[in-house]
Amino acid sequence: MKGLMMDFALTVPVLLRRAETLFGNKEIVTRLPDKSIHRCNYREMAARSRRLSSALHKLGVSSGDRVATLCWNHYQHLEMYFAIPCMGAVLHTLNLRLSPEDLAYIVNHANDKVIIVDQVLLPLLDKFKERIKPEQIIVVPNGTTPLPQGMLNYEALLAEAGPSGFTPFEGDENTAAAMCYTSGTTGQPKGVLYSHRSIVLHSMLSSFSDALAISEADIVLPVVPMFHVNAWGLPFTCTMAGCTLVFPGPHLDPPSLLELYEKEQVTVSAGVPTIWLGILGILDANPGKYNLKSIRCMLVGGSAAPRSMIAGFQERHGLRILHAWGMTETSPLGSVCGLTSEIRKKATDLQYDYRAKQGLAAPFVEMRIRNEEGIAPWDGKTMGELEVRGPWIAKAYYNTPDDDGKFTKDGWFRTGDIASIESNGYIEIKDRSKDVIKSGGEWISSVQLEGMLMGHPSVAEAAVFAIPSEKWMERPMAAIVLKEGKAVTKEELTRFLEPLVARFWLPDAYEFVKEIPKTSVGKFKKSALREMFKEYKA
Ligand code: AMP
Repeated sequence: MKGLMMDFALTVPVLLRRAETLFGNKEIVTRLPDKSIHRCNYREMAARSRRLSSALHKLGVSSGDRVATLCWNHYQHLEMYFAIPCMGAVLHTLNLRLSPEDLAYIVNHANDKVIIVDQVLLPLLDKFKERIKPEQIIVVPNGTTPLPQGMLNYEALLAEAGPSGFTPFEGDENTAAAMCYTSGTTGQPKGVLYSHRSIVLHSMLSSFSDALAISEADIVLPVVPMFHVNAWGLPFTCTMAGCTLVFPGPHLDPPSLLELYEKEQVTVSAGVPTIWLGILGILDANPGKYNLKSIRCMLVGGSAAPRSMIAGFQERHGLRILHAWGMTETSPLGSVCGLTSEIRKKATDLQYDYRAKQGLAAPFVEMRIRNEEGIAPWDGKTMGELEVRGPWIAKAYYNTPDDDGKFTKDGWFRTGDIASIESNGYIEIKDRSKDVIKSGGEWISSVQLEGMLMGHPSVAEAAVFAIPSEKWMERPMAAIVLKEGKAVTKEELTRFLEPLVARFWLPDAYEFVKEIPKTSVGKFKKSALREMFKEYKA
């Protein structure tokens, strides 16, 4: 017998309709390139996004066409987030930190019909413009200098466009709505295609109380760029919830962010550990300077959050870090590390141990780990590759016949992350499979060593990677960035680690560096470190 519920499609226009109808006056705040503040609301955003759909339609964009954006986080980018899927086209966010070669490859592979670019990013577009063939380039002007010949002005297009000159998308919820290429450091970037349905379900999950609990009352500032997995879905989630959105524009340095948190009374923010480490450094150096009482949750993901950072924010500043795990292929939320009622009864130290893990699988996301022996037990010790499945997990890459065996025959996605899972379900990511250090047949988790080293009071950042060893095949080496004005010797670091890890985990070599090379989304670039220190042998 079939249920008798409506077959109501889960689509992006429904999210926008809700914000416009119920929360039209709620604000969208943007810090512009000149640092002035722009304010608009959901009613205006929805109206402008319809004008953009209509302008794009006039330019020949139709259902299924890819429209690329090369933009920072701001209100016009939010308009694009809705205008493009709401006309049945595909929003393709380009990562402005990738190399011009990668960007050219991605634009050509996706066959982007139109590119919308911030005027401040035109110098970047210039570096690969000759290698791509979009039909139109639209520029979001910053009001100062004239636009290059042949490019269209975003604001002029909107001013000329009518509110209804396009066919609103009403089709199948499984239609593609957005697209993002992986920022993988090996092989060519691969396109992940989010559907209307996956975006809606992911938005509902983000507002789930054991996830981010985003509600109408929140004031959310996504530091995570809108080109990194749709800013972790926050523009969609926040619009659905009708909460106030605050966009930092291109100003992502810790003092600018801290000022904005304070001024706009932000309640939730989200970013990679590098951002939070920078913010913690400023707060520690300026006790009492910033009033951050409004903040209830600082979401961290993209790389492992060091335990010392989580404890540092909590104990020295009363700020709560919430750790989550995900990938471009998982929309991204796969697991969130809230504490269960059981763990809340435990000692504070143990609670921090848990908060540094990647948490529990989100509802509708299922996880397992697999190694050479098959599906591994959930004993908190056995490691294996994490595999996931669920309604917002990719089932294939766009136009990529050779997917490297990432999708199993029985319907799971192989994440490439090495993890263990405890009997209570808490996941701990130990490494990327290509970064895990294999010493004498035993695995050493570079992520865990990094977390411990970053707990040393003199260490700002630590990245651990493998160096070759004749006897053991691979041994760990650590690149260390010291905190300003601090010093520590290699011997002191070894003594610091000794009580924390098995002897064979102790790094064979340390090197003090000014900075650790990072990927386009702010993660440690282990391949660059292995190359930098390739002369080292253990
Ligand atoms: P991306 O697709 O660029 O978002 O990268 C996804 C990868 O980032 C994952 O496969 C993990 O290796 C890593 N990652 C994301 N979140 C975490 C986390 N909380 N802890 C450890 N690694 C993470």
